Amino acid sequence: MQEAAKYIEDTYAKILKRDPDQIEFLQAVKEFIGSIEPVFTAHPEFIQQNILEQMIEPERIIQFRIPWMNDQGETKVNRGFRVQFNSANGPYKGGLRFHTSVNQSIVKFLGFEQIFKNSLTGLPIGGGKGGSDFDPKGKSDNEVMRFCQSFMTELQQHIGPDLDVPAGDIGVGAREIGYLYGQYKRLNGSKAGVLTGKPVFLGGSLGRTEATGYGVVYFTDKMLQDTGESFKNKKVVVSGSGNVAIYAIQKVHELGGKVIACSDSDGYIWDPDGIDYTTIKQLKEVERERISEYVQYHPKAYYYEGSIWDIEKEYQVALPCATQNEIDGENAKKMIEKGVIAVAEGANMPSNLDAIAVYQEAQILYAPGKAANAGGVAVSALEMSQNSQRLSWSFEEVDEKLESIMESIYIEVRDTAKTYHMPGNFVVGANIAGFMKIAQSMISQGLV
Ligand code: NDP
Repeated sequence: MQEAAKYIEDTYAKILKRDPDQIEFLQAVKEFIGSIEPVFTAHPEFIQQNILEQMIEPERIIQFRIPWMNDQGETKVNRGFRVQFNSANGPYKGGLRFHTSVNQSIVKFLGFEQIFKNSLTGLPIGGGKGGSDFDPKGKSDNEVMRFCQSFMTELQQHIGPDLDVPAGDIGVGAREIGYLYGQYKRLNGSKAGVLTGKPVFLGGSLGRTEATGYGVVYFTDKMLQDTGESFKNKKVVVSGSGNVAIYAIQKVHELGGKVIACSDSDGYIWDPDGIDYTTIKQLKEVERERISEYVQYHPKAYYYEGSIWDIEKEYQVALPCATQNEIDGENAKKMIEKGVIAVAEGANMPSNLDAIAVYQEAQILYAPGKAANAGGVAVSALEMSQNSQRLSWSFEEVDEKLESIMESIYIEVRDTAKTYHMPGNFVVGANIAGFMKIAQSMISQGLV
């Protein structure tokens, strides 16, 4: 066996032995190492410095108790996490997720992906992620506020504008960021740069709310254009109906496509006239309702229980924007049968390894999340710049910068895949391009 292949295999065996139960984390590592052998063959110094094992082990994991009181006066206890994965390129940066499924494996997988995503943006940020197994669904605003205050009471000592800058993710939107920031400020004074995704009147950036959804569509558009295609007259399926999905739907329509279906964790809606994103926005962001309510406002639409990827309609572009592992090999085969020519991931790791193999076998365009959904963190980094300079850029300025960053990421990913003799393989392109900058940065700083 080649030295590089053996090094990678041995490193994976060590990780497997250390954390055999961390299914999602192991999956993310496996997907990553499946494409980086050519780099280790070309750079034996990376093997000598054992860079892969250093990169796979987080710099620090903080786990803590979050006691809070519900509206009935009962004391509840949740578990909080922050994984400070890699600071080679700058302060740790990555979102907080509030969802019942959150555990150490999930935050480690998200933090690991975040390192390479942040590196691809070309901005000076390291990688981190955090969250809690708290479920904001069905909780009153006061309960969410008390939980956020307790969460931040512990987290505040580990974060700071030049140290670690959290943002939102599943279950953490403008409401939660507002409460988290309020508590941070109460304990440390006003430092807007400590969190991103803040409401605009608290120092948030215009365009941050839209950034991940718009970004995934910009990336997909560049990818389609390179093959002589575009969104024009394409039918599109978007999973989820949260922050990423809502603005992806809006942008697809602006670019001439038609989103025919979107979902939540209970089911999906199909609207032959195209999904009206303003209704989704009202239902999800304001009323915090279920997606099934959509049909009350759009009588031609249908609601179906179950996975959106079982949809029995023809479509050409799939934008998974809900959660990890929502698409397996069978779902992926079904997509191909329905005419899909491009998949771009708004969510993190929504396609499992079998699904990715199906896309690659069918030779359709496939953009992995760490490249396609980098728009959110890119605009978060722009929010950090605005906060430190005490500036506020217009929506148009931010949107223009976002589109240009997504285009640069696309070009870098595409060209890296070509350089490593796998043109069109954006998994290889994203992993290698993201990895190179971190590896070089880590080596230049010596063992730390
Ligand atoms: P939100 O909480 O705003 O929305 C999540 C959406 O996904 C909801 O519609 C939710 O439905 C659905 N969902 C959650 N879990 C499941 C599940 N198990 N099965 C089916 N549907 C599910 O989160 P975001 O939109 O912020 O995040 C979506 C994805 O995008 C995540 O993978 C996140 O990591 C990724 N991402 C987000 C970024 C951001 O800027 N927000 C940046 C980069 C990536 P329900 O309401 O029923 O729970």
